[in-house]
Amino acid sequence: MKLDSKTILIYVEHSGSKVKKNTSELITAVKKAAPSAELTGVLLCVPAERAKLCSDIEKLNLKKVYVVENESFSIFSKENFASAVKAVIEKAAPALTVFSHTTNSSETAKVLASRTQLAIICDAINFAVYEDGEFVAVHPMYAGKIRAHIKFENQPGGIVTLRPNVVEVCETASGACSSFETVPFTPVSNDAVKIINVIADASKKIDLSEADIIVAGGRGVGSKENFKVLEDLAAAINGVVGASRAAVDAGWREHHDQVGQTGKIVNPKIYIACGISGAIQHTVGMQTAKCIIAINKDPEANIFKIADYGIVGDLFQVVPELASELKKLING
Ligand SMILES: Cc1cc2nc3c(=O)[nH]c(=O)nc-3n(C[C@H](O)[C@H](O)[C@H](O)COP(=O)(O)OP(=O)(O)OC[C@H]3O[C@@H](n4cnc5c(N)ncnc54)[C@H](O)[C@@H]3O)c2cc1C
Repeated sequence: MKLDSKTILIYVEHSGSKVKKNTSELITAVKKAAPSAELTGVLLCVPAERAKLCSDIEKLNLKKVYVVENESFSIFSKENFASAVKAVIEKAAPALTVFSHTTNSSETAKVLASRTQLAIICDAINFAVYEDGEFVAVHPMYAGKIRAHIKFENQPGGIVTLRPNVVEVCETASGACSSFETVPFTPVSNDAVKIINVIADASKKIDLSEADIIVAGGRGVGSKENFKVLEDLAAAINGVVGASRAAVDAGWREHHDQVGQTGKIVNPKIYIACGISGAIQHTVGMQTAKCIIAINKDPEANIFKIADYGIVGDLFQVVPELASELKKLING
């Protein structure tokens, strides 16, 4: 598929009061791969959120944004959300619709693909354009050992989800969007599973998949209480605590803290692995971190093979010292 000056639809993800950074990541990635494409956006929100979100969107490099407002969007439903995006696709006829690969957006994208019969490429880590002008999405396979370049063939349009935090936002994402069009919409409610309430995480901590700094602990941490050492380091450097499955299975951390194949895929700027051996099921979830620091008392631990910096030592000695030195650096 050649994108040239075709329309590309960006799914605007938000928190209700703010457009999320991953929307700028999508714009940056698409602008890089298809500079002459026309970028439009789709915003789903409840009516009370519209004004605030549109004022955020005005700063983005989008030619036009289709706004679907409805009270039903207060609770996430993949059927309802996909149905609203489908209504916009029927209006805008984009060559490509791009979502961030977060839990809700990727669920929406998959249902949308099934309802529109459009092909979908999930969990891309980059976009590229070949010399002949063909658009490809780069997707890691076999636990990140190879990177497949996937293209759409003979398709009237396609859907791609891009992993959050893998693209550095640059100024091409900023612009002046001033054109908004409201799209009428009747909610659908044929979900086999109905979400009746969403309870926000009381800790209000940043989600692991959006965090810039993660301090993760494994079986080597030894107990739930011992995670306090990691919490202190994370607090000193504005990080978030993650965990290996061994730590989650032991009941020391909640499942939403788990990094890896059956947990979250994370792409922070810094990942500090403490008492984690580096099993493939763990590393598949964090190996795209920009800088990996491993602390382990076993010099042969696998984690050192992918670490940028390694400290062989007891985490209960190393982590508090690291926290204290970093606090001194940060506080001057
Ligand atoms: C289908 C499947 C899916 C899986 N999904 C996941 C997943 O999503 N995420 C995941 O993490 N795992 C996953 N696993 C489990 C994975 O295979 C490993 O068992 C797990 O990652 C090991 O966790 P760990 O590194 O914390 O523990 P261990 O492998 O036991 O390693 C503990 C490490 O701590 C070090 N250590 C001990 N004490 C200290 C100390 N005081 N100071 C410093 N270092 C110390 C040890 O040297 C050791 O290297 C999955 C497994 C399967 C089969």
